[in-house]
Amino acid sequence: MTTESQIREQICQFGKSLYDRGLTPGSSGNISVRLDDGWLMTPTNACLGRLDPARLSKLDEKGNLTSGDPMTKESFLHIAMYDQRPDAQAVVHLHSIHSVAVSCLADVDRTNVIPPITAYYVMRVGTLPLVPYYRPGDKALAEAVRGFAGKHHAVLLANHGPVVAGSSLSAAVYAIEELEETAKLYLMLQGCKTRFLTREQVTELERTFPS
Ligand SMILES: [Zn+2]
Repeated sequence: MTTESQIREQICQFGKSLYDRGLTPGSSGNISVRLDDGWLMTPTNACLGRLDPARLSKLDEKGNLTSGDPMTKESFLHIAMYDQRPDAQAVVHLHSIHSVAVSCLADVDRTNVIPPITAYYVMRVGTLPLVPYYRPGDKALAEAVRGFAGKHHAVLLANHGPVVAGSSLSAAVYAIEELEETAKLYLMLQGCKTRFLTREQVTELERTFPS
């Protein structure tokens, strides 16, 4: 059984690791973890590299702040994911540069932005729909995410960045890292004749490693 204080430490450790490796700059990106009676979330304007476990935002089941600093302004993205995914224990959102770059490409398949390049991408992320662009703070973005979240644990916000849910904080972090690495690969392969995994190979992975 993981205690709340251990979860607080884990959020800060993963945040620092993501920030130190340049996976989300400045005060961008946010992390949340589900508790028995609500959520822990990173605060607004907080740098993921310098989080204080005692100042993380604690929310009740309705999403109201009960202690800590005010929560991230993007809290509604997290709540939309949890609402549609009862099994999700953690959600991570980053402004990771290669994923953001892919989120700005024109003429992508909006139902699945990145093709199946590697087996681990298929296993950890699977299909990745593009959520239409809305300005920061527009609640319509939460509704759009809610529309995809039932079927997809990972979504890419257009001209913004990825949001990924997981069965644990480490699962969500590893999946969003796999997404970022695959976005980098996808950009490296632009203009190169590429052999993507076939439909049959993807089906075999989905059958062997059901999510
Ligand atoms: Zn964002």
